[in-house]
Amino acid sequence: MGLFSLTDQIHIPIMARPEMTPAKTMLPKIVDPRRLADQGATLKGSVAAENLPRISQDAVPLSEVQVELAFTRGDQGRIGVKGFVSGQFELMCQRCMDTVVTEVTQPVDLVVVWNDDQSRSVPRELDPWEVDEQANLFELIEDEILLALPLVAKHPVGQCQPPKIPEQGIPEPEEGRQKPFEILKELTKPSDK
Ligand SMILES: [Zn+2]
Repeated sequence: MGLFSLTDQIHIPIMARPEMTPAKTMLPKIVDPRRLADQGATLKGSVAAENLPRISQDAVPLSEVQVELAFTRGDQGRIGVKGFVSGQFELMCQRCMDTVVTEVTQPVDLVVVWNDDQSRSVPRELDPWEVDEQANLFELIEDEILLALPLVAKHPVGQCQPPKIPEQGIPEPEEGRQKPFEILKELTKPSDK
């Protein structure tokens, strides 16, 4: 438990870090929300894209995902998790089929629950984060990023790339150009989600 056996000392290194140094902390996959909340800890750092495989099904991550999540004890001992996740992703523009870079910052505001019963008792205005004894931070980050990614990505108006000529030197007839879009529509039909 070396790396993340958080003690009260957690506050000291974080506060003492010089302003100039960018946060390079790689966050752990599994965290203990009770413990973090009791310590009033804030998880601040990044998660490598390869630890978030579900995102890669929809987008190409261009960087690590940045995360800042504060754990607190709130009303009736409820554990609140508040902060944001953010990152840069490459998607396919649905107009020109070229790549488009999208920056996403998703606010996070959740209460931790340990089972369905608890989940139901949470006031409607609060979003539950259902966890086992320990919580999978990477899954949460994947969920939040997937929520934030646009369903249909497009370049800003006027910034699309001109259509590419598929075979070198042989210009396609006009109607031939329509086809890739139809294929794309098939490929990008919303799946079960
Ligand atoms: Zn475009």
